[in-house]
Amino acid sequence: MNHEPITVGNVIAQPGTSVRGGIPIGADMDGGVREIPITVVHGARKGPILWINGATHGDEPEGAFSIFLTLAEVDPAKLAGTLVCVPAMNVAAFRAGLRGDPLDTFSHDMNRIYPGKAEGYPTERVAAAHWAAMKDACDLQINVHSGGEHSYLAHMIFAHDNAPSMELAAAMGPGWDLVFRSGTGGANPSAAIGGLGKAGVTVELGGNCRTLTGDFHAIARDLADGYLNVMRHYRMTEGEASYAPAWRQGFQIPLLAPESGMFVGTDGLPFEQPLAAGTVLGVIYDLYGDVVAEVKAPREGVVFGLRSRPSVLAGQWCCFFGVVEKTVDDLIVRPS
Ligand SMILES: [Zn+2]
Repeated sequence: MNHEPITVGNVIAQPGTSVRGGIPIGADMDGGVREIPITVVHGARKGPILWINGATHGDEPEGAFSIFLTLAEVDPAKLAGTLVCVPAMNVAAFRAGLRGDPLDTFSHDMNRIYPGKAEGYPTERVAAAHWAAMKDACDLQINVHSGGEHSYLAHMIFAHDNAPSMELAAAMGPGWDLVFRSGTGGANPSAAIGGLGKAGVTVELGGNCRTLTGDFHAIARDLADGYLNVMRHYRMTEGEASYAPAWRQGFQIPLLAPESGMFVGTDGLPFEQPLAAGTVLGVIYDLYGDVVAEVKAPREGVVFGLRSRPSVLAGQWCCFFGVVEKTVDDLIVRPS
C-alpha cells in the first residue's frame, strides 16, 4: 500500500479494495436517494484512473454487461491504478429501456448535453453530477454505446482528436481498427474529458437485436476483452497487450431513409469491409411490397452499422456509413 485512498461520489476506496456506492443525484419524490451506481476498484499500486461509462443512452445495455464481466476478472490486489465502473450513467433512461429519461422533455439525450448544468433540466443535472465526480479523477475514459433499440453497430471507435485519445483507442486491441477522430465541441463525455487534454473514446458495438443469450454474451465478451487489453497496455495489469496492425481513419456519413416504409438490409451485406460506391445497402418497401427507395453507398467506404428495426420514417437513420481516408500505424509507440 504505497498510495492514497480515492474518493469518487460517495465512495472512499482504500488501496487494494473494491468498493460499491454511487454518485448522488438528489432526492426522489418519495424521499428515496437517487444515485448513479458505481464500483471503484482501487489498485494496490499507483497507476492511471480508467473510467468505463455505460448506458449514457438507456437502451444500450452493452456497457453494463461488459463491465460486469470485467469486474469479475480484475483483482484490486494486483491492479496498478484505479478502475471506475459506471454501468448506467442515465439510470432513469436505463430503467425505461429508452434512449433518454422519458420524464425529461428538454434534455432527453445525455450524449448531446454533457456535461450538463447543476441548475439545469433533469438530465443536465445528472450529467453535471457525473462530471463533477469524474473530471478531476479520470485519466482515461471509455464511453460505451451501441445501436440501441433501432440499430446494430459493429466495432467503431470515435476518439477525441488528441494523441492520448488515439492511444486509448489503439489500446482496445486487434478487433478495433476503425478509429475515427471526433471534432472538438461535442457535448458528450469523451469530448468533455478530451477537452481537458486527457483520453476520451466512444466505442460502439451491439444493439438490442443482439441481446439474446449467447449473442449478448459474445458482444459483452468482445467489449470486456477490449477493456482488459487497455489495462494491459497502460500497465494496470500483468501481461502483454495486443493491437491492430494499422488503423483506418476517416469520417461518418449518416444515411437517412429517403422514404417511409420498411427497411430491409441487403442479404449478406458485410460490416467493416470495403464496399464500392453505389453498392445497394438495403431497400425500403411500402406496405404493398413495392420497393420505394434504395439506400446506396454514396461513395467507396464501409458499413459499420445498420438499422435493425425495420419500420422507418423518411429521415430516420438507416445506415452508419464510414469513409476511410487513410490507414495509419502510429497511434501508439509499439513495443520493440
Ligand atoms: Zn448511444
